[in-house]
Amino acid sequence: AKERGKSTYQMYNRRLHSSIQARRTLERQFEQALGGNEFHALFQPKVDRKGRIIGAEALARWNSPELGQIPPDQFIPVAESSGLIIPFGREILDLALREWQRCVCAGEGEEKPVLAVNLSPFQFGHPDLVRDIQRALEKTGFDPALLELEITETGIMRDQDEAEKKLLQLNEMGVSIAIDDFGTGYSSLKKIKDFPVGTIKIDKSFLENLNFSRKSSTIINAIIGLSHDLGFSVVAEGVETLDQLEFLQEAGCNIYQGYLFDKPLAIEELASRFTVRYYP
Ligand code: C2E
Ligand code: CA
Ligand code: CA
Ligand code: CA
Repeated sequence: AKERGKSTYQMYNRRLHSSIQARRTLERQFEQALGGNEFHALFQPKVDRKGRIIGAEALARWNSPELGQIPPDQFIPVAESSGLIIPFGREILDLALREWQRCVCAGEGEEKPVLAVNLSPFQFGHPDLVRDIQRALEKTGFDPALLELEITETGIMRDQDEAEKKLLQLNEMGVSIAIDDFGTGYSSLKKIKDFPVGTIKIDKSFLENLNFSRKSSTIINAIIGLSHDLGFSVVAEGVETLDQLEFLQEAGCNIYQGYLFDKPLAIEELASRFTVRYYP
């Protein structure tokens, strides 16, 4: 048993070692990718009750010549632990604003579609955040009213006074805020209402569990009802089936995002969708 314990340890140690190596490689490649053209953004539509696109969320993609396609769930943690998320965040924001200007804002609708960009808690906590956003808006001449920032609960709950100050500054600039991945801390809707937040995005895990758990549907119903009572807009992410859509409509949720409508799209593809409705 002792022998086996030892070899298990060695195996574990080797695996740990190689995973540290892999992480270092990823980090090195990520750093080199900054400022090149390995990153791009795809845009996933947000759809209203009438099947019209009211905006989209920018989702980062990394196409590394050495490593291939790396999904954000893999590179964002590395970017955060290395601090490279800050220059990366500036790059992807610039890029998303430019593409939106070029393809989407040019269209002549009455209601201009809103662009949502993700901020990790690390980015939101950074002292330069507000200045960075301001600079990106000025550089591209982007209308702040058409920008929404998606921030997770943990991002604003860590240092609440500081967070409130930043959110107020962003709000004064005209930028709006959505709480991303909402749903694990139900009680904090009460806290969120003290912040200048416009939108609650219900985490897709609740929809995934709809079929298996009655509790999930009770929770979504409660979140939607309470959010509306508190004056928030509610967006459901990860809508994949008609059953889920019907459930959400019945529960009073009016904005949807998910594979049922579209996956994240190249900007030209998104732009071509504005003239169509997803359902009559
Ligand atoms: P998120 O902000 O919660 O984004 C939703 C994720 O769900 C996206 O994954 C999206 O492609 C995926 N998704 C959309 N519709 C469906 C659906 O119907 N079913 C399912 N199962 N999934 C769906 P993606 O693009 O891989 O991004 C993963 C996460 O990486 C994002 O989660 C976000 O936290 C982070 N991320 C992506 N782009 C950026 C970025 O530019 N900056 C930062 N800081 N984080 C980013
Ligand atoms: Ca998001
Ligand atoms: Ca999510
Ligand atoms: Ca997330």
